[in-house]
Amino acid sequence: METGLKNRVAIVAASSQGIGKATALAFAAEGAHLALCARQQGPLEAVAREAAERFGIQTFTVAFDVSDDSAVRSFVQAAHQKLGRVDVCVTNAGGPPAKPFLSTTMEEWERAWQLNLRSIVSFAQAVLPYMQQQKWGRIVTLTSYTVKQPVPELVLSNSIRAGVMGLVRSLAGQFGPEGITVNNVGPGFTSTDRSVEILEKRAAAKGISFEQAEHDLMQDIPVRRMATPEEVAAAIVWLASAPAASITGQTLLVDGGSYRGL
Ligand code: NAD
Repeated sequence: METGLKNRVAIVAASSQGIGKATALAFAAEGAHLALCARQQGPLEAVAREAAERFGIQTFTVAFDVSDDSAVRSFVQAAHQKLGRVDVCVTNAGGPPAKPFLSTTMEEWERAWQLNLRSIVSFAQAVLPYMQQQKWGRIVTLTSYTVKQPVPELVLSNSIRAGVMGLVRSLAGQFGPEGITVNNVGPGFTSTDRSVEILEKRAAAKGISFEQAEHDLMQDIPVRRMATPEEVAAAIVWLASAPAASITGQTLLVDGGSYRGL
């Protein structure tokens, strides 16, 4: 499939490891230039170097926390200056802590909103004016399959990320006439540090071994395995591609069939 992404510029947030890193490399493999951010400059630069060496594309990196609104805006402006355009924006960040509802604090609710919803608002407000000028753009938010099927210990994620779906639908409706699509990808359990963190907490809460928690989880996933970061990345790249121009306002789950709804 011709993705039409060659020489486009893709922003991929939180891309020093895991799904973000796999997404950055997948865009680079299509010939897109990359603007990358995460909190740690060292690992971020390593991803940029790998992408440039393997795929001969241009890169721009800045280390900052995506919940810092002014840092997001400066980064997008600088990426546009350095790379000449902004075509794709993949929003991503770490997930909120896994905790039972009554143990959550108001500070954690505030942090979850800043990290997992407000940061997307910041990115969208910063990239949309460039996309409007070009009459072409792709925003893909990375959330979780919990937007469709809440997971018991992830009440912060379940709640805050549902708001992302409202935002995605709203932006898809408003900016569709200008050639801009806005979609959401919801991974299920994916083999990264984040799934290890959640399984460790689940094992501790139930008083079982990590291996037992992993085994139990597999019984709930129809394909009996976690997704790979590369599989989630492929879905994101496809939604950003030229052939996906008529798909907007959607949530695409990459969850091995975990969500049981129709
Ligand atoms: P990960 O922990 O492997 O990577 C997270 C990335 O986010 C890292 O690059 C980290 O540096 C960056 N990051 C974290 N907080 C940041 C911040 N405040 N500012 C900037 N960068 C920040 O996680 P992952 O598995 O790649 O998950 C990516 C997203 O997908 C997370 O939001 C996670 O909750 C969600 N998700 C993951 C799974 C899974 O099983 N892995 C399942 C569903 C949803």
